[in-house]
Amino acid sequence: MTTVTTQAANGIKTQATTRDPVIEELNFPDDPDNLYLQTVSTMLGAADMLDLKHRVRIILAQPKNEVMVHFPVRMDDGHHKLFKGYRIQHNNALGPYKGGFRFHENVHLDDVKSLALLMTMKCALVRIPFGGGKGGVKCDPRTLSTAELERLSRRYCSAIAPIIGPEIDIPAPDVGTTPQIMAWFADTYMMSNEAGEAHDGIRVVTGKPVEFGGSAGREKATGQGVADTLAEMLPGINIPVQGMTVSLLGFGNVNSWGGRILQDMGAKITAVMDHTGAIRNESGIDCHALAEHCSRTGGVKGFGDGAATGSGGGTSTGAEEVSEEDFYRTKVDVFIPGALEQMVKAKQAEWLDCKVVAEAANAPCDPSGDRKLTEKGVEVLPAILVNAGGVTVSYFEWLQNKTSQVWDGERVDRELNRHMVGAARRTLAARTRLGCDLRSAAFAAALEHIGSVYKVRGIFP
Ligand code: GLU
Repeated sequence: MTTVTTQAANGIKTQATTRDPVIEELNFPDDPDNLYLQTVSTMLGAADMLDLKHRVRIILAQPKNEVMVHFPVRMDDGHHKLFKGYRIQHNNALGPYKGGFRFHENVHLDDVKSLALLMTMKCALVRIPFGGGKGGVKCDPRTLSTAELERLSRRYCSAIAPIIGPEIDIPAPDVGTTPQIMAWFADTYMMSNEAGEAHDGIRVVTGKPVEFGGSAGREKATGQGVADTLAEMLPGINIPVQGMTVSLLGFGNVNSWGGRILQDMGAKITAVMDHTGAIRNESGIDCHALAEHCSRTGGVKGFGDGAATGSGGGTSTGAEEVSEEDFYRTKVDVFIPGALEQMVKAKQAEWLDCKVVAEAANAPCDPSGDRKLTEKGVEVLPAILVNAGGVTVSYFEWLQNKTSQVWDGERVDRELNRHMVGAARRTLAARTRLGCDLRSAAFAAALEHIGSVYKVRGIFP
């Protein structure tokens, strides 16, 4: 086994393991750019620090089930188009498989497998009784009409219905999917079920609209979890949330909520970039106004048409448009990547001028980016901790549906905070105990829990 050790300016060592024996044993292809290989390597690196049993390592190195489906959808012009979908069930040692499904052009098997593995780790770290799964359909939802999107969502549900269920595998929203899509999904599942079980079928999916079994606080949950994690972790890094500067990569569900919540907590959001462009205002961008602008126009572009005239600690109404490089080079306390995977590579990491990276998206930094950030002494708060708020409130939604209760927003926020703070403290404790970086520590804290469950359950037969 070859181990590359990187020592950061702050003295913390990170170990990247290349070709772990389990990777050799399972005959993984040798492609350093493959997200699944990267994710498994991180997991096995943390397992090494714990002496995790070989049998648990090989189980977690591959998903339990990989389901691929093809289904036709009638388009508005009358012709039929064939779509490819996936549902990956990574592990269910702690409870039913859990994780969202995405509608995106770049949905590929290995990426969905990585995201499913990350769900297993995330649920274990925040201590909710779920395993990990993930799904997706390769499509561009922006090019579909509402009627086409509804037919696609319903056909995807019926294609994977035989393998999911309220106690088996519970999907949720992810990139490109919405509460409305969850409503169509639940309705399809419920209509296809035995009449007596029809209403209980509502638990098959979370992230539903509030009027149809959704939970208060679910829509903002991932952003709220990002804010809760930062409030817990930043004082230890000597950054007060009040007055800190922040840049946001992506302004979809996660970062538009995270940005608004952090702004309301006293942070100053000075740069934002999404698929339409990048904007900057050193005096602060008003994320409430930006969220309205985005829901009207589809992206941050054009918000810069207002003058960047804010002053003091307040926020102005506009911002200047900047290049991608200038966006990354903006000096901030905290950079929050909340878009897609592998967007921060060595080049972007080199540009960044921040003290902390808080990973609000799943796997936003690739290994070269991660190494560069470590070399520069940037503290990286890992995704399985930072973005665990969404699935945590999904668990609350599932619980409310199961017990016919309706929690108010205050209770949801309080319980969410309890889980996020617990996960942050577990991660910090693992770092102190193992003397490693925070990503390895978060994986180790999750693996310890999964390992202890396998120890008492044993392996059938
Ligand atoms: N898609 C979200 C995630 O990656 C939420 C999953 C869920 O609520 O099950 O964590």
